[in-house]
Amino acid sequence: MTTGSDALFARARAVTPGGVNSPVRAFNAVGGTPRFIASAQGPWLTDVDGNTYVDLICSWGPMLLGHAHPAVVAAVNEAVARGTSYGTPTENEVALVEAIVARTPVEQLRLVSSGTEATMSAIRLARGFTGRDVVVKFAGCYHGHVDSLLASAGSGLTTFSLPGTPGVPASSTELTLVLPYNDPDAVRAAFAEHGDRIACLITEAAPGNMGVVPPAQVDGRSFNAFLAETCRAHGALFVSDEVMTGFRVSASGQWGTDGAHEGWVPDLVTFGKVMGGGFPAAAFGGRADVMAHLAPEGPVYQAGTLSGNPVATAAGLATLTAATDEVYARLDVVADALRAGAAEAFTAAGVPHVIQSTGSMFSVFLTEDPVHDFAGAQRTDTAAYGAFFHAMLDAGVHLPPSAFEAWFVSASHDDRAVEQVLDALPAAARAAARA
Ligand code: PMP
Repeated sequence: MTTGSDALFARARAVTPGGVNSPVRAFNAVGGTPRFIASAQGPWLTDVDGNTYVDLICSWGPMLLGHAHPAVVAAVNEAVARGTSYGTPTENEVALVEAIVARTPVEQLRLVSSGTEATMSAIRLARGFTGRDVVVKFAGCYHGHVDSLLASAGSGLTTFSLPGTPGVPASSTELTLVLPYNDPDAVRAAFAEHGDRIACLITEAAPGNMGVVPPAQVDGRSFNAFLAETCRAHGALFVSDEVMTGFRVSASGQWGTDGAHEGWVPDLVTFGKVMGGGFPAAAFGGRADVMAHLAPEGPVYQAGTLSGNPVATAAGLATLTAATDEVYARLDVVADALRAGAAEAFTAAGVPHVIQSTGSMFSVFLTEDPVHDFAGAQRTDTAAYGAFFHAMLDAGVHLPPSAFEAWFVSASHDDRAVEQVLDALPAAARAAARA
């Protein structure tokens, strides 16, 4: 029964475009009524009609420990009781930044309130530092709704881009180059033609916003290593967007799985999601000599009323502190079980599928071939995914309502939650086969 969600959705649509405050939540890609969630605990969501679901969205990444984790709740309660925002520096901000610096290759960090702000600010800083204007990004990588990054590829590989949405002027994307992901030749060609104008290249550390597309190997090292080298050779900055992967795919993010042992470091990194513990907190940081260009130390302006908010930093710090080796080990166990169960169910139902991962972050493409880039991701069978999604939802499993999103697990996904997903998969895979 979804009468409560139906009624709320009708009310919401009267006063909010599409009835939601972020588009994917509206179920546009899969149809039906989004479930209005009333509460969440560990791996479970409870909607306003009292239905419960195993949560495989996890707030699109932040809920690494599961919902209402006791240590996070306690830290938040303690912080709230001391006031919710001062507009002055606080000790928790310093502690959170130190915790991030200790886990990642960044030397200095600035806190902001969303991933969008982090990437927007990193790009401004890269342009201010290099005195150059051109930004390179990859098709299918999402970096938030920054005007210059809402760009779609132009007609040729090294031609500048077109706005990806109405409302973005051509002048905002005409300095953005959009290239195919995992394509070193396209990167070489772009840098050969425009290298001395490129301020930075920004990439998801491992793309998760077209489904999970791991960085390929290029001549024995990761695509990220190749990008870092190419940027350096041309005096451009390499910006690694770890908003989704940071503190999730390992304690030190995607960099912990390739950069740390390959010996390269990004010039700038963006973070969000997990580091806010479910509150609006994000960050950008990197080389100290680059960060020194930020106001008030340097000339590049950037600011925020709620940046480093004391409640958000308390939640983030509690989350990072609780993210022990055991937590990452549990994420891997849960992800392995779900991947194996999904593969078995789709195989039994005769549904072509490819499961791709980085760490415990994974996605299921309903397609024949491995996916290396956005063009490949778009071959996924979205109608079959819609049928699969609804069959899972009816069986009490809340997947991302889009075929192009990663499935997120938490360390609170216990055996009962995992069993509920595994039990639901065979019939849902058969529903996909019929779609
Ligand atoms: N970068 C990446 C890689 C993301 O996945 C997202 C959000 N999904 C963002 C940036 C934007 O973050 P936010 O939604 O907090 O603005």
